[in-house]
Amino acid sequence: MATAGKVIKCKAAVAWEPNKPLVIEQIEVAPPQANEVRIKIVATAVCHTDLYHLFEGKHKDGFPVVLGHEAAGIVESVGTGVTEFQPGDKVIPVFLFQCRECRFCKSPKTNQCEKGGSTVRLDAMVSVDSRFTCKGKKVQQFAGTSTFSEYTVVNQMALAKIDPAAPLDKVCLLGCGICTGYGAAVNTAKVEPGSTCAVFGLGAVGLAAVMGCKAAGAERIIAVDINPEKFEKAKVFGATDFVNPKDHTKPISQVVSEMTNGGVDYSLECVGNVGVMRSALESCVKGWGVSVIVGWTDLHDTAVRPTQLIAGRTWKGSLFGGFKGKDGVTQMCKAYMDKKLKVDEFITHNMTLDQVNDAIELMKNSKCIRTVLNVSPQ
Ligand code: NAD
Ligand code: ZN
Repeated sequence: MATAGKVIKCKAAVAWEPNKPLVIEQIEVAPPQANEVRIKIVATAVCHTDLYHLFEGKHKDGFPVVLGHEAAGIVESVGTGVTEFQPGDKVIPVFLFQCRECRFCKSPKTNQCEKGGSTVRLDAMVSVDSRFTCKGKKVQQFAGTSTFSEYTVVNQMALAKIDPAAPLDKVCLLGCGICTGYGAAVNTAKVEPGSTCAVFGLGAVGLAAVMGCKAAGAERIIAVDINPEKFEKAKVFGATDFVNPKDHTKPISQVVSEMTNGGVDYSLECVGNVGVMRSALESCVKGWGVSVIVGWTDLHDTAVRPTQLIAGRTWKGSLFGGFKGKDGVTQMCKAYMDKKLKVDEFITHNMTLDQVNDAIELMKNSKCIRTVLNVSPQ
C-alpha cells in the first residue's frame, strides 16, 4: 500500500487524563517495527475494561492513552519478520499474546503467554512501547491494542487472522467480551451437561457466559443483575431464572441456595466487584461447586471464609475465557460463520468513532450491551 513505511496521520480518541471525556485528535502512527503489524481499524466496540482504566484503575503511568481493545480491521503493512500476515488480511487484535513457543503456550492448561508480560504492563495496562504520538507527545497504547483509532500497530503475537468473509462490524466483539464470557463457562468452569449455573452481571461478558453455559448443556441458568432491563436479553442466550439483588433483603447467595437445594454447580462473576465475587462463590454448592472470577479489578482484595473452600468449593479466575489469544479468536470466528455462535445479538447500538464518549456514557449507565463504533469503511 502507498502508506507502507510512512507515518500515517489519522483520527483517534485520546484519553489525556483519567475521568475526562476522550478527545478526537489527529495522531501520528509510526510504521510497524520488527514483528509488528499496522492495521486499519474498521470497527471497534467499547468494553467495560476501557471504562475501568479511565474511571477506576486510573494508573498514573497509564495516560495519555488511546483506549479500545475489542476490534476488527485490515492489515495495512507489516514489519520485518512478519510472515503470517499480509496487507489486506482481515484480522482481530487480541490483548493476550500467543507466541506458541514459551512453556505457557506449549501447555494446554493455560493461555498465559510469557511474551505478553515483556511488552504489555499488567498494572498500568499499557504497552511498554508505543507507535503513537500526538501534538509532539508520546501517547500510550492500551492493552497492546488501542483500537479507538483509525490505525494502530500491534505485535504479530497479539493478532488473529480471520475468515475474509467475516463481517468486521460484528466479529469485532470476538476480540474480548464474547470469548471471555463464553470461554469462562466452557474452558475454565468446564460446565457439564445437566448442571445448574449462576451468572452474576449481564453485560456482554455475562451474557456470553450464559451462552457458554447453555452450549455446554446446563439445564438451569440463573441470571443475576441489579438492572432488570438485562433479563430479556439473558433469556435470548439461554437463562432460565432471573434474580435482581435489589428485590431481596437476604444475601444473594442464600437466595440462590434456596432456589437450588443448596447451591449451583457453577457460578461466574462477570461484574468486577469483590463483594459479588464472594457471593458468587458462596452461591456454589458445597462438595463440588466451582466459581469463576471473570470481572476485572486490581484495586481491592477479595475475601472468603476458608471453610467455604474446605467444604469442597473451588475458586478460579479466567482471562480471555481461557482461550489461547490467537487460536481462540480464529476458532470462535469460525463458530460464528458456521452459525454455531451468536454475536449480532450483543450489539445494541451502532455509532461512529466521533461518538465514542456517548458510547462510554451508555455503558457507564448500563444502557447498552455493546456499542459498535464504525471507524473506517470495510
Ligand atoms: P458491563 O458494564 O456491560 O456489565 C456489567 C453488568 O454487571 C451490568 O449489567 C451491571 O448492571 C451488572 N452489575 C453491576 N453491579 C452488580 C451487582 N452488584 N450484582 C449483579 N450485577 C451487577 O461490563 P462487561 O463489558 O460485560 O464486562 C464485565 C466485567 O468483565 C468487567 O469487570 C470487565 O472489566 C471484565 N472483563 C474481564 C475480562 C477478563 O479477561 N477476565 C475481559 C473483559 C472484560
Ligand atoms: Zn474487554
